Amino acid sequence: IRLYVDHPLGVGQSVPLTREQAHYLFGVMRLAVGAPVALFNGRDGEWLAEVSEAGKRGGLLTCKEQTRPLQLPPDLWLLFAPIKKARTDFIVEKAAEMGAARIIPVQTDFTNSERIRQDRLQAHAIEAAEQCGGTFVPEVTELQKLDRLLADWPEGRQLMFCDEAEAGSALRLAAGEKGRPWAILIGPEGGFSDRERARLSGLPFAHVVSLGPRILRADTAAVAAMTVWQQALGD
Ligand code: SAM
Repeated sequence: IRLYVDHPLGVGQSVPLTREQAHYLFGVMRLAVGAPVALFNGRDGEWLAEVSEAGKRGGLLTCKEQTRPLQLPPDLWLLFAPIKKARTDFIVEKAAEMGAARIIPVQTDFTNSERIRQDRLQAHAIEAAEQCGGTFVPEVTELQKLDRLLADWPEGRQLMFCDEAEAGSALRLAAGEKGRPWAILIGPEGGFSDRERARLSGLPFAHVVSLGPRILRADTAAVAAMTVWQQALGD
């Protein structure tokens, strides 16, 4: 059993459980005092812990030893325009599984949703990290305006701007750009506006790429783009 906890981990550290975690460990999985549990918090690697107190509404685990160090993913951000709830959840889950370091929902000219539930999306990222054995949990940010993000763009970070209107291939991205911080940008169902395309094409850090001749749904495009990025530019 592998559990995410929002608590520091270290030798002898006591880790209190939430009501939901206690229900899962003791009610559903039937663990008793002394049972082993793997813990991670996204910062301190993975730890072997033991149940030291088991109750209906709570419990305590005690950390024994570190079993894996923290493994940071490549410095890749995923910027995407939120779409329908289930598809947005899918994008966050897959981005966390595939090792995005930060997930940024962006508001573009044709983005439909004005609001997101950041806490829900962050919980999906945590579940995905629990499931795929990662020791790192990507941060899911609040919804940000694409224009503002581009105006404050961090020095040196490259942007893979995915656009179905582009004919070139993603694999044209120079291998010389390897090892640098990157971001991937996926648009909403309606794609990007002409204004956004013009702005993006004038930015020195933005590289427009195609993901093939068919128009992919935004959730498919996000997974395809991360796969292509890993092949061309990942470690
Ligand atoms: N504007 C399009 C339309 O309505 O015909 C569709 C946009 S598509 C559903 C959503 C996003 O996925 C796009 O903004 C783009 O970022 C990405 N995308 C989809 N297919 C793509 C492709 N073949 N190449 C690059 N990006 C693609």
